[in-house]
Amino acid sequence: MKGLVIVLALFLCVFGKETFEGHQVLRITPISEVQINLLKELSKQDHLLLDFWTEPIHDSLAVDVRVPFHSLQAVRAFLGYHEIHYEIMIHDLQDLMDEEQREMMKSRASQPRTTDGYDYASYHTFSEITSFMDMLVQEKPNFVSKLVIGKSYEGRPLNVLKFSTGANRPGIWIDTGIHAREWVTPASGTWFAKKIVSDYGHDTVLTAILDKFDIFLEIVTNPDGFHFTHTSNRMWRKTRKPNDGSICVGVDANRNWDAGFSGAGSSNNPCSETYRGPSAHSEPEVKAIVDFVKSHGNLKAFVSIHSYSQMLLYPYGYTRTPCKDQAELDELAKKAVTDLKSLYGTNYKYGSIINVIYQASGGTIDWTYNQGIKYSYTFELRDTGRYGFMLPANQIIPTAEETWLALMAIMEHTKNNPY
Ligand SMILES: [Zn+2]
Repeated sequence: MKGLVIVLALFLCVFGKETFEGHQVLRITPISEVQINLLKELSKQDHLLLDFWTEPIHDSLAVDVRVPFHSLQAVRAFLGYHEIHYEIMIHDLQDLMDEEQREMMKSRASQPRTTDGYDYASYHTFSEITSFMDMLVQEKPNFVSKLVIGKSYEGRPLNVLKFSTGANRPGIWIDTGIHAREWVTPASGTWFAKKIVSDYGHDTVLTAILDKFDIFLEIVTNPDGFHFTHTSNRMWRKTRKPNDGSICVGVDANRNWDAGFSGAGSSNNPCSETYRGPSAHSEPEVKAIVDFVKSHGNLKAFVSIHSYSQMLLYPYGYTRTPCKDQAELDELAKKAVTDLKSLYGTNYKYGSIINVIYQASGGTIDWTYNQGIKYSYTFELRDTGRYGFMLPANQIIPTAEETWLALMAIMEHTKNNPY
């Protein structure tokens, strides 16, 4: 494994961007505990360099895995031998990436001068999103401001948009893009920012929310990782801080929080996609939010947005013990996903993290909930695996629009149920 990683690293130094030519994404549907265990064994074969987009957990959930070209034969033989069913979801990942790049180039031909001219139906780089934020602040200086809550490991500003119509208000937090490759989330976050500005004073529900609460929106929560997905490796998930004693870089910023930290459902291996980091809040991108939440002291809702799988989740992820507000959070989740579905018929599952997905320790919303923020939720946006992290840009706006309805349900409930 180490040898391969070094060869790969050298290759990247020479050629720049990592290619995914011939990589396939397989959807595997295990039907028994035995098959789940076989898939877990398969995932430990480091030399295959498999990238599990969804983990083998129980036999009701499909497992999506990216298989590099050089491992395809071995993986197909393994699945065939054990009679484990699979289908090919993505035939050649690089084709989708090339298409995505072409779309971005087209959009980039015109640089917007205002947020009206911004292309919400396209993916954008960190600097383009930063320019968008600056334009929005410039256009509505009495309503929108940009806070810098810290710096990423590589020194990028951790920008948070603040939407506020009065002093000393309680707050609602939304973040997108904490996992770098989940591109539809910062794209949706950008759309949300514009939506808030457009609807305030027009939409009575949003106006009532903003007459009582400030909204804080961190669009690119992991800027180093996000930048890296644009320049070097579209499949990057973690932060970009080097790890002591390892050649592998980065930490899973959704396993790094001080809530069941280092428990099951996180890895102590720096090369793992779910590496938790050396200690809780070791990552500057996480620490900045921790400091913000504590110094603000009055956040009433906290929503952290991921993709993909179409789920709305509430605490806990690290323990089977139901959180004390489970009944209310479940009821509200049901309302939110019903509203979401009303627009385009998109189906969402909902429930606690540990029940709906799997045990995951050190997650964002477990920590925020334990800080006293009752309405703590995580979304997994579109889709359910047809494109996975490579969701085509023509789905950005529909995704953002339907998600907005669920966010409105959560924010309105927060407003109507003070605590
Ligand atoms: Zn994620």
